[in-house]
Amino acid sequence: MTVTRDAPAANATLNWLALRDGVAPVWARYTDLVIDRGDGSWLTTIDGERYLDYTSGIGVTNTGHSHPKVVAAIADQAAKVIHAQQNIVYHQPGLELHARLPRLFPAPADPADPIGLFLANSGAEAIESAVKLAKTATRRPIVVAFRGGFHGRTHGTMALTSSSVRMRGHYEPLLGGVHFVPYPDPLRLGAGSSAAALERTMAALDELFATLCYPDDVAAFLVEPILGEGGYVVPDDGFLPALRALADKHGILLIADEVQTGFGRTGRFFASEWSAARPDILVMAKGIASGLPLSGIMARRSLLAAFAPGTHGGTYGGNAVACAAALATLDVIEDEHLIANAERLGTRLLSGLRAAASSSRNPNIAEVRGRGLMAAIEFAEPETLKPRSDLSKKLLHDALDRHLLLLSCGTYGQAVRVIPPLVTTEAEIDQAVSTIAEVFASLS
Ligand code: PLP
Repeated sequence: MTVTRDAPAANATLNWLALRDGVAPVWARYTDLVIDRGDGSWLTTIDGERYLDYTSGIGVTNTGHSHPKVVAAIADQAAKVIHAQQNIVYHQPGLELHARLPRLFPAPADPADPIGLFLANSGAEAIESAVKLAKTATRRPIVVAFRGGFHGRTHGTMALTSSSVRMRGHYEPLLGGVHFVPYPDPLRLGAGSSAAALERTMAALDELFATLCYPDDVAAFLVEPILGEGGYVVPDDGFLPALRALADKHGILLIADEVQTGFGRTGRFFASEWSAARPDILVMAKGIASGLPLSGIMARRSLLAAFAPGTHGGTYGGNAVACAAALATLDVIEDEHLIANAERLGTRLLSGLRAAASSSRNPNIAEVRGRGLMAAIEFAEPETLKPRSDLSKKLLHDALDRHLLLLSCGTYGQAVRVIPPLVTTEAEIDQAVSTIAEVFASLS
């Protein structure tokens, strides 16, 4: 989705924008801001205009922009060694991260089979790793994913993605052996409650196994604990436990895609913790290194061992500077109590947005939902639930005019995401809520 500003761009911005013609148009750009610097929740343009960044670069800058401790760790490591390739040598930040991250895996530690870690660069690359691992470990060909899910844009991950036809249309033929069932989204399934939506999803899985594939051909369920690009849908807390039980019954692996929900975003370190359902493979990226390209999967070491040496990897995975940034990110999350902050300020954000929605009396605000600092507002016609992406576009556009950066989501772009960094403050939350309330009033 593109939102262009009506106001004429200031001078420095105009000069720089003259250079943009070579930028591939595939980047569906949301603004024409040219950024000079970022600090905390704020981005500053080269003309000195400040914007409250409640996109967090699509859920990446959980520690805020350019946190001094992250910057220092990056600078120190870059001065020592930038690239110390994983197939050739070990490096200190990598070894430390391999010891530290597995302690955060959302399940009680099992000394007989501890958690291990494989590092890559992007979310999509980590999903590729998880699916390849599941296939090679189980020697089964099929992956079951959920409608509305987003797992990346590589040739493999787009086949697992169904958040929008834009991600996969015109790229056929895609990877085979993928089946989809509905995500338990009460609003879009018209189910009335999250429990009823969950029943529909579980019934669809039963039907899948009765009509299209045998469960013992399924390598993995691939699931987002909270639907991200597909609309920030928080499922019933029974969802992951129900999938876990079905997976156990049939020897299927459970892959939790925590690319968008991890690193404190939802008020828990990983969103899987909300239901205490242990994934077999946990996929992470985005918030892991405060903006440096790093991603990874965690799994029991006995499972990770199914990747025989040399059967998977990459030149840059586990880059030394990115690992140093990840270690500093973990320190900041811990030292500044960012998970508690996400839960506390998430409650403030959601209640503020709900109050703004109800006082606007706009019948097209179908839902305000979220968990922690992962919030969304969905626009739809009251009776038919026909998506109103025109209203979400207007909210994005009008918030941008008021120097607040937000993002759309949902299959039709009918929802607006509010994704503050976890270092945000009460005052910033209140400022964002009052900006959105102002726009709500103008929408009605
Ligand atoms: N999985 C989820 C849940 C995501 O939200 C994303 C990106 O938005 C990805 C995977 C892909 O990550 P990347 O863009 O780093 O490849």
